Amino acid sequence: VEFFDSHAHVALGAFGGTQVRRARLQRSVAAGVTAVLAPAVGPADGAQLPDVTRACHAETGVALYYALGLHPWALAELDEASCDRWLAQVEDRVAADVDPRLRAVGECGLDFGVARDATQRGRQLTATRRQLELARRTGRPAVLHCVRAHAALIALLDERATPACVLHSFSGSAEIAREYQRRGHYVSFSGSVCRPRIPRLASAVRAVAIERLLVETDSPDQTPWSAHPAVNEPGFLPLVAARVAELRAEPLEAIAAATRHNARVVFGIEDSQ
Ligand SMILES: [Zn+2]
Repeated sequence: VEFFDSHAHVALGAFGGTQVRRARLQRSVAAGVTAVLAPAVGPADGAQLPDVTRACHAETGVALYYALGLHPWALAELDEASCDRWLAQVEDRVAADVDPRLRAVGECGLDFGVARDATQRGRQLTATRRQLELARRTGRPAVLHCVRAHAALIALLDERATPACVLHSFSGSAEIAREYQRRGHYVSFSGSVCRPRIPRLASAVRAVAIERLLVETDSPDQTPWSAHPAVNEPGFLPLVAARVAELRAEPLEAIAAATRHNARVVFGIEDSQ
């Protein structure tokens, strides 16, 4: 059984330096997690992703792809000029389309739990709108983070026709999951599904059609319950997939195959890659 981790931050410092990163990805291969999409948080990790993904693929055999963008938490720590400079670089690199590992725009999105006033929310809306425009212009998916802001994000997605995007680490209700999939977007579940009592999230896991379903670790964050207190890594993805399979009453092999296929479709990865 092979798995595709649709979201792991392999170039973040908390994921580990060169040696630790390599060991984590070797364990991923051993666990059957043979492909990973690594989204950028901001300029610091984003600048390293082209080299890190190339080197780690060569050293470990994990097929590593990446996305470039600006996460709402990173946005809060940068001044306007730095945000603007980074987003201009992201636009140039995605539009240039010269690196076959660069598959998506992101991570971007809205976090109204973090942005509490109108100014901070306005900055998130502006940066997300700009990254969605890049996704539209290039036909790439956007990898979206959304906490307590689904109505605002859906309004942004609805401003113009948008390519199929990925709602990462989905934590909303079944109704909200249906709103995204009705628009052709994919819904990705992380280790939060491994917690014992999750009635609302469990209905969301069941509400997503098999052809819109993805699984992820969100490494190095969100270690699945049973792997605590380890730092999260892609090798823990089978725990997430097993819980999704249990909640949907479907075989693990079917979840692994469908989510792997869906990741390749949404990120536009050809069979030869
Ligand atoms: Zn993330």
